[in-house]
Amino acid sequence: MGIATVNPSTGEIVKTFEPITDQALDNKLNKAAKAFRQYQQIPIAQRAHWLQQAADRLEAHKEQYGRLMTVEMGKPIKSAIAEVEKCAWVCRFYADHAEAFLQPTPIATDATESYVIYQPLGAILAVMPWNFPFWQVFRFAAPALMVGNVGLLKHASNVPQSALAIEQLLLDAGFPEGVFQTLLIGADRVAPLMADSRVAAATLTGSEPAGMSLAIAAGQNLKKVVLELGGSDPFIVMPTADLDAAVAAAVTSRMVNNGQTCIAAKRFIVHEAIADAFTHKLTEKFAALKVGDPLLPETDVGPLATPKILQDLDRQVRETVLRGAKVVIGGHPLDRPGDFYAPTILTDIPHHSPGRTEEFFGPVALLFRVMDLDGAIDLANATQFGLGASAWTNDLTEKARFIQELQAGSVFVNGMVKSDPRLPFGGIKRSGIGRELGREGLLEFANIKTIWVQ
Ligand code: NAP
Repeated sequence: MGIATVNPSTGEIVKTFEPITDQALDNKLNKAAKAFRQYQQIPIAQRAHWLQQAADRLEAHKEQYGRLMTVEMGKPIKSAIAEVEKCAWVCRFYADHAEAFLQPTPIATDATESYVIYQPLGAILAVMPWNFPFWQVFRFAAPALMVGNVGLLKHASNVPQSALAIEQLLLDAGFPEGVFQTLLIGADRVAPLMADSRVAAATLTGSEPAGMSLAIAAGQNLKKVVLELGGSDPFIVMPTADLDAAVAAAVTSRMVNNGQTCIAAKRFIVHEAIADAFTHKLTEKFAALKVGDPLLPETDVGPLATPKILQDLDRQVRETVLRGAKVVIGGHPLDRPGDFYAPTILTDIPHHSPGRTEEFFGPVALLFRVMDLDGAIDLANATQFGLGASAWTNDLTEKARFIQELQAGSVFVNGMVKSDPRLPFGGIKRSGIGRELGREGLLEFANIKTIWVQ
């Protein structure tokens, strides 16, 4: 489809865009390089002021930006507006804390004086996905701009209006021309950018193939890359857990963003003693979800973002069922216009089926039963991914073992996995490289410079 807004609720082509020419791209890279020379000298208090103004604008126009996201990729309007509010939060968080995070760190050595300072790298290329069109960009941009880097955004091709709106918003907030630019280009033009001396480093959130492609290009040019890729997060429920709280969180975690969240709970690993009760309660809640027009405030689940995502999910469910899984509820696309899929629960997931090995990016819960703690941990770790993990228990030994032994970038005990500007976010194994958010995320795109003076 190229670069375009296509409403996934209706299939209507809302607006199409021409990719920019090679000459226009070159001009933007020059502009970024020029902007960086000046921007890195700007006092951090001034950068923080602009970021606060960006937060003000996000809050003032949250309905407008929320609606834009809903039309472009189908998330329910209430969560779209909440996403804009969260972007304001990450801007204020870094505006308030970046100066402290970037304070020189004295370290005693044999020198008269030795310490570490933190400096920007230059223009950072951000390749971003459509699932959180604003949040993914702001969680990159807020820390990167506070360090003194400049940003180049290659957003997903189905959210071009969000990409352009963010560029305009940051300009309106006061950031100088060239400090943050949107590049309307296809994915095929990303790898060559890594060879360009005007691009210092890159970050990508998206699928494994996209991550690998960028990592190869970054490797060939020996440039830093941060990758936030897929996940198949476990959500473990043990007998001592508060079952109702666990079920409520399970529904939210699986259904947020119509099921298209990297840190969604995807594999529900439930102790045999409570598995029937958990399944029963979860099924009741799935059946009660309101699926429909995401612009209506009462809608819980909207469409998937593109026809391709719907087809992929349908293929995964069919294949898993063909190999022996049972459908508790749902299990099919909805018979209506748009890319809607029924909230679905599958149990008895067979070995060597997509339900064991692949990420399901949609409203499908995969249920597994285990006999004990060891079984829960083994199954949770039996995946190539390692993004987040949620474990529900009130047993102290179990808590300690989940914290120590779950292979993931984060473990949430008695809570669903979520991102928070104050906490580092990222994965291990095939879920990614590096971290976003927190102080750790801010330092990913800094030159951590050692100073030694005698
Ligand atoms: P995607 O196809 O990988 O797209 C993500 C971005 O990468 C888009 O901007 C896309 O551009 C670009 N891209 C695609 N192929 C590329 C290539 N070969 N080289 C360079 N750039 C390329 O992924 P998606 O389907 O939009 O997103 C879903 C995936 O992202 C899921 O696996 C999900 O778990 C993951 N995700 C991870 C996180 C996290 O933080 N870990 C957060 C959100 C999503 P075009 O649109 O132009 O193709």
